Formats: sequence, C-alpha cells, structure tokens
Amino acid sequence: MALTERSALYRRALELIPGGVNSPVRAMRAVGLDEPLFVKSGEGAYLETEDGRRLLDWVMSWGPLLFGHADPDTVEAVRQAALRGTSFGAATEAEVELAEEIVEAVPSVEKVRLVSSGTEAAMSALRLARAFTKRDRILKTAGGYHGHADALLASAGSGLATLRLQAPSAEPTTRSGEALGIPASPGVPTGAAADTIVVPYNDLDAVAEAVMRHGEGLAAIIVEPVAANMGVVPPEPGYLEMLRRLCDVSGALLVFDEVITGFRVARGGAQERYGVLPDLTVLGKILGGGLPLAAFGGRAEVMDLLAPAGPVYQAGTLAGNPLATAAGLSVLRRLSDPAVYDDLERRADLLEDGLMPFGRVQRSGALLTLFMTDKPVRNFEDAQGCDAERYGALFRHLLEQGVYLPPSQFEALFPSTAHGEEEIERTIAAVASFGH
Ligand code: PMP
Repeated sequence: MALTERSALYRRALELIPGGVNSPVRAMRAVGLDEPLFVKSGEGAYLETEDGRRLLDWVMSWGPLLFGHADPDTVEAVRQAALRGTSFGAATEAEVELAEEIVEAVPSVEKVRLVSSGTEAAMSALRLARAFTKRDRILKTAGGYHGHADALLASAGSGLATLRLQAPSAEPTTRSGEALGIPASPGVPTGAAADTIVVPYNDLDAVAEAVMRHGEGLAAIIVEPVAANMGVVPPEPGYLEMLRRLCDVSGALLVFDEVITGFRVARGGAQERYGVLPDLTVLGKILGGGLPLAAFGGRAEVMDLLAPAGPVYQAGTLAGNPLATAAGLSVLRRLSDPAVYDDLERRADLLEDGLMPFGRVQRSGALLTLFMTDKPVRNFEDAQGCDAERYGALFRHLLEQGVYLPPSQFEALFPSTAHGEEEIERTIAAVASFGH
C-alpha cells in the first residue's frame, strides 16, 4: 500500500514539476531508480519518508546539517527569529554578528556579503573578480561545480556530471586537457561560456600552461580546494600552493569555492586545513545551518568594489534573511569549540577505516567518498572511470537496508555530529553485506 501511495505522489509531482523534483539529482536516476524519496521529516541522523521508511541519512541535505536534522538549537534560534518577523529587507544586528563570526573563522575573509544560494555567491564573486582585474576570462577545473550560472557550467561536476553519465556528450578538449568555452547546457549562450577555460583538477602542468597562454586576460581561477562534486578528491601536495603562485604572477584572483568545505574540513575551511589563502571565498551550506544562506567574502580592497561602497552591482530581497541568519549564527557560534572538529574527525576516521576494504575511500575531514575502483582518483576523468553501475547497485542494496547514501558516485558522504558509532557500524555492516 505504501508503495502505491508513493507512486501516486510521484505521479502528481510529475504532472506539476519538471521531472517531479526541484533539483535534478533528487530524481535518483543515476542509481537506477525512477522515484525520488519524498521526505516527511528528519531527526538527528535519520529521515522519515512519506511511505513510512526510516532511513539513516548520509546526505544531510548535501552538507549543511553539521549538527543533524532538526537540531534543537537551530530550530529554537529560527523560531525565536520568526516571532520577531521573517523578513525586513533592511539591515539587522544579526547580520553584523554573523559577518563577525565569518571573518573570525575564515582566515582570508576581511569583509563578507550574504546572499541566498551558493550559485548566487559564486556568480557574484566572479563578477567582482572581473571588475577588480578588469579582465574577462576565468579558469575552472573539470568536475568542479560552482552552481548553475551560465559561465560556470562548463565541465561541471555534481548533478550535471550525473546527467552526462546518462546522456554523454563529448566536450572537446585540447591535448593538454584544456577545454575552452563550450556551453555545457542548452540555453547557455556561446558568449557566456567563451571566456571559461577548463583544466583537469590536480594537474600542475595543465594549469600552468593555461595561465601562461591566457594569463593577461585572466580574471580568476575558481576552484573547490577539496573537489567534492566529482566525489571527494583532495588536492595533491603543492597543488593549491601552485594555484596561489600562478595567480600572484598573472594578477588573476584566486577564488576558493568553499560551499562544501567551509566550516566542515576545518572551522576555517580548506584554506585553514591546507594553509593556502585565496583572494575571495565562496561559502554556503553549513553557513546557513540548513536555511537558504550563502556568502562571498575576501580582501577588503576587493569587496569594497561592491555597491553601494563601489560600482559593482549585486543585491537580494532576501539577502541576510533573519531566519537564515539566526540559524547560521546558532551553528557558527558552536564551531569555535575545537571538540566539534575532533569529534567529526574521529567519526570520519572510523567510517573511512570500515569502508576501505570495499573500494577506494577518499577523504578530507568529515567529507568522504567510496569510489567503486581500486585506483586513486585524482581528477574528474578518474572519477568518470569508476564503476557507476556497481555504485548504483550498492546504493539500492543499502537503501533496502535503510541506509541512504548519496544517490550518485560523484557526490560525498556528509557525516555530522549526529552520526554516532552505532550509525557508522551499521553502515559498514550494510556495505559488507553487499560484498567486495
Ligand atoms: N559550489 C559548490 C562547491 C557546491 O557544492 C554547490 C552546491 N552543491 C554550489 C556551489 C551551489 O550552491 P547552491 O546549490 O546553494 O546554489
């Protein structure tokens, strides 16, 4: 009966919403299913679905929920804020307090602006970089995802990579692996993509060569300092340092997209963990504690080009929304306790150790992927070489046992403080029962 009910809901959704979902990867097609999960509620590390299943959740809304679902402190902060009014479209003290928390936590950020989504933050950071350098070109890495703005979809990871797997269409590359200006989705004008240069992640020669060739016109290198939208691919030693040097030499700005890594791989993000400072940082996910909130920030002299301090236009009706800001403050204030990260690191260690016999585990802090391969995954090409069919079979096997993994090989598991030893052991046992 439950199944019929779910199907009826999905049928209703399909009639009203393209593909039945409001973000493509939720459709679960990459793991061989043709129905999304309809979630009714969540608590701690668990989800309840509309058809009555209780699932151990490793997706955690794709990263924001560092303290688990329906975290009581976050919920109370949002409730208190809502009682005072849900939106003013005017400045509030809480925004200033949140900016103080961000600047204190993230080493390279001197000034910050709040927006509502990671897409918006990345898009705005690039506009700013282009205005500051008075140049147009940007360089990104294959498999890096920075939201769905026109210029940033070229060779993007995450949901786009997942779609590609179902309907591959070759994006031509040069011999060095560099690709130039290929619109990655219908509807992206050739002009918008023409200034995007794509190089493989973790490839020092390819990025050096591309900067040599385009350096004078290069506004920014944008990169996930730990790639997490092709599955988790940590930077090899020297890679981030090389990006920093290439930016210094060419005058381009280094933009770290820390939407996933921020407040996760360390309180100050990957820039703290790996000790390389960008000019601009894109933040989201944990920053908003599960509410729509993101930010971009960096050197004051660059940020002060933003209107109304400077001429670069950027705005938002709901930017710094009081509910999202209250949730963010509640989360960030708890992160100054190093015990949070010690705890997360220990749990992620346990999970990594337990999963190691069953594939290739790659991890940075509380962020990891189990790749269906026995070889190291250094870049997007390696990730695409993994056995996605087998990942799909593993996903379905675990779902039957009540364990919900990310529904794509190109995504990460997101441990939270709500994932205790019991949840970790249960997950390892479920994977073990799938076999080698
Ligand atoms: N950058 C990165 C690194 C991301 O992982 C994401 C989303 N997963 C985004 C940007 C876009 O954020 P949003 O979905 O909030 O637009």
